[in-house]
Amino acid sequence: MKIPLLDLKTQYHSIEKEIKGAVEEVLQSGYYILGPNVKALEEEIAKYCRVKYGVGVASGTDALRLSLIALEIGEGDEVITTPFTFIATAEIISQVGAIPVFADIDEKTFNLDPEKVKHVITPKTRAILPVHIFGQPANIAPLLNLAKTYNLKVIEDAAQSFGAKYKDSSSNSVWRKVGSLGDAGAFSFFPTKNLGGFGDGGMVVTQSKQVAEKLKLLRAHGGSTNNYSYSLLGYNSRLDELQAAILRVKLKFVDQWIAQRKEKAHLYSNLLSSPSLPVETPSEMSYSSHTFCVYTIRTPYRDKLKQYLEEEGVKTKIYYPIPLHLQEVYRKLGYHKGDFPVAEKACQEVLSLPIYPELKEKEIHYIVDKINKFFCGSFK
Ligand SMILES: *Cc1c(COP(=O)(O)O)cnc(C)c1O
Repeated sequence: MKIPLLDLKTQYHSIEKEIKGAVEEVLQSGYYILGPNVKALEEEIAKYCRVKYGVGVASGTDALRLSLIALEIGEGDEVITTPFTFIATAEIISQVGAIPVFADIDEKTFNLDPEKVKHVITPKTRAILPVHIFGQPANIAPLLNLAKTYNLKVIEDAAQSFGAKYKDSSSNSVWRKVGSLGDAGAFSFFPTKNLGGFGDGGMVVTQSKQVAEKLKLLRAHGGSTNNYSYSLLGYNSRLDELQAAILRVKLKFVDQWIAQRKEKAHLYSNLLSSPSLPVETPSEMSYSSHTFCVYTIRTPYRDKLKQYLEEEGVKTKIYYPIPLHLQEVYRKLGYHKGDFPVAEKACQEVLSLPIYPELKEKEIHYIVDKINKFFCGSFK
């Protein structure tokens, strides 16, 4: 059996007619940049996240970048983030002139550990940038408390976690969507994310009118093309009208797709729960509703298991093989091996298995059978 890590085509075929209709409508409209679909998607996603504003931009990376700029984080400022994430998270901190300061992660969730964050706050710290990794919200409440105490901004990297929900431990707390928890939340519509377009795209959600207005300026050269007057240094970072039209169709299905992902993840976890298997399945915390953008197990025999599964037709991926503090590009920051042992160990042990809403149960059984077979054999 051949099982891909991800299958985007099957999903497209399930909604092909609607997508083609939406695309055709845009093509016929003559309105291709910042038209009615971008505006409607911004409103729909703001409503979905129960925030006041959504601002569509060209990518998830730009959603993060423009958020930092809109929140006036720049030259010499320190921004605390996780070393266990995609490079974009840290790259944009450096590109606005700020300094990424890493803190180690929690072993169970792979998300920033608030206790570790506390220890790296300095007088130069201006913001915390937690990532909701793999589809599971970071433990935000303690981070928001730190932010309040030290007067810091909180920017959520929710690129992998569209639709994920968080609830703090206080008794009257309600479920809230990621993106709505900090000062700004960044989503990516890269095709492989839970809400993915057919190209690049992103969005920032925020409760602040001031931040939303600034983002709208920043994404279009810092001013107005009606009268060609510019108040600040901006970018060309707009969300395409075509992508917005496609994403509006997909938004209607996203909760259903998340539910299907959860089902698949739970089937994997049940089948892999035997204590004799040296495999750890993903933890789901009481404060979070995991959306399983990625399904990641860990095992000390990762590399050999990956190779075995590959031979048996199962594609897997390592998110992430190298923590950011040990990347060549960040050598200048002066971190060393051993600085963040939890993240470093995770990089040695994680393996992401195929997951998507359309993944079949019999495929999951096949993958788990192969994993069992690997560990029964003389794998070491
Ligand atoms: C995908 C991703 C991004 C960047 O999103 P793009 O739309 O690809 O620019 C940022 N952070 C994380 C954690 C991501 O997974």
